Amino acid sequence: LVFESLGERLEGVFKRFRGQGKLTEENVGEGLREVRLALLEADVNFKVVKDFVDRVREKSLGQEVMKSLTPGQQVVKIVHEELVGLLGGSTTELDLRGKTPAGIMMVGLQGSGKTTSAGKIALWLRREKKMKPYLVPADVYRPAAIDQLTKLAGQIGVPVYPSTPDMNPVDICADALSRAREEGCNVILYDTAGRLHIDEPLMEELSRIKDKCAPAEILFVADAMTGQDAVNVAKSFDERLDISGVVLTKMDGDARGGAALSIKSVTGKAVKFVGLGEALSEMEVFHPDRIASRILGMGDVMTLIEKAQTTIDEDEAKALQDKMREASFNFEDFRVQMRRLKKLGSLEGLLKLIPGMGKLSQQLGGLNMPEKELGRVEAMIDSMTRDERRRPELLNKSRKARIAKGSGATVAEVEQLCANFTQMRAMMQNMMGGGKKGKKGLPAM
Ligand code: GDP
Repeated sequence: LVFESLGERLEGVFKRFRGQGKLTEENVGEGLREVRLALLEADVNFKVVKDFVDRVREKSLGQEVMKSLTPGQQVVKIVHEELVGLLGGSTTELDLRGKTPAGIMMVGLQGSGKTTSAGKIALWLRREKKMKPYLVPADVYRPAAIDQLTKLAGQIGVPVYPSTPDMNPVDICADALSRAREEGCNVILYDTAGRLHIDEPLMEELSRIKDKCAPAEILFVADAMTGQDAVNVAKSFDERLDISGVVLTKMDGDARGGAALSIKSVTGKAVKFVGLGEALSEMEVFHPDRIASRILGMGDVMTLIEKAQTTIDEDEAKALQDKMREASFNFEDFRVQMRRLKKLGSLEGLLKLIPGMGKLSQQLGGLNMPEKELGRVEAMIDSMTRDERRRPELLNKSRKARIAKGSGATVAEVEQLCANFTQMRAMMQNMMGGGKKGKKGLPAM
């Protein structure tokens, strides 16, 4: 299983932070020694590990920490963020804009999975992007390579260039490009030759193909199981060809994940796809955030992260509390919270995240709205003008009628919403100990 051992190691580290009152230089230092070992054991590049640990230390001891989380949760959150960064940040899609057909050149060492990945990507482009791919076998040195890709093309029903071993690879690619255009294909995949090691004649050939065909993407295909070797080879290919991304194959057999965790930091180029098996469907787009969550996804670690991420930040919570106390909480605020609530699942869940609101959420049990109801409420609030949302007291009979009409609700429903809102606001104000000084009672609606 991918990243299994790393995940287990990290979970052990996080457990140690539980029950600790606060993050200190000492306990962070101890925890990070373990994180460092775990990453090195996962075969992550040592320089990458050092930078990673330094950043986590800085963030853990710095000001970016949220007081509403426990020390363990803080560390998990920071490690998660940094892992996402290591893996490349956000998902990097293929960029096939520009000339048609768009070219994708597959490069890499022999046996890395180029031919298989060319077939997988062709299938993916057809299924997911509704594109018309064209496949080009350009490895004339290993005769079986041409057969292999031709067979794959047949399996997925994609046209393939009739290469023969006596042809020149650069000519093949150039001619295939015009064929693909004639056949109305909008994406063309070149499966180039590989060698056991990097050698100059191969690099020369690859750069000539690049110059001639100007592909939109040059994808370096790497066998994840070769760990740091894959990273080093990627670096050499990038220096020579300026690759646009990486396909990491055989992740299904790699429990360590060192290549995935180092390649972006070392080469600056993102992993775009991962191969997870021999079959043509066994490929996925590489999503750094999902992978990071998967690494940390053992036990209850995931829940912690989710909670940390949905926790309202402290300034916002403070502003909200003030508004509640002064009963100036309006429909605008309500809508913001409602949208958040949709993600969270329930009003109760939301209120629990606001400090001091736990009790209120129990009292509001009856206000728990199901998903569908929320949609209707949101439609009504959307139909209000900005002024009305900010000053609910403006809502008179004719305005309510207009809102009902605009949102497809009945006037009674709008009345009900306003009544509920007033009630909720009163309860909030009560809970927050407001209303003693200042305005008495509630503004009429
Ligand atoms: P090429 O020489 O770079 O074209 O490599 P191939 O595409 O011929 O792949 C070499 C071997 O690796 C073949 O046996 C493939 O079936 C296998 N392979 C390729 N990708 C994956 C993958 O993601 N997972 C697994 N388990 N095997 C793979």
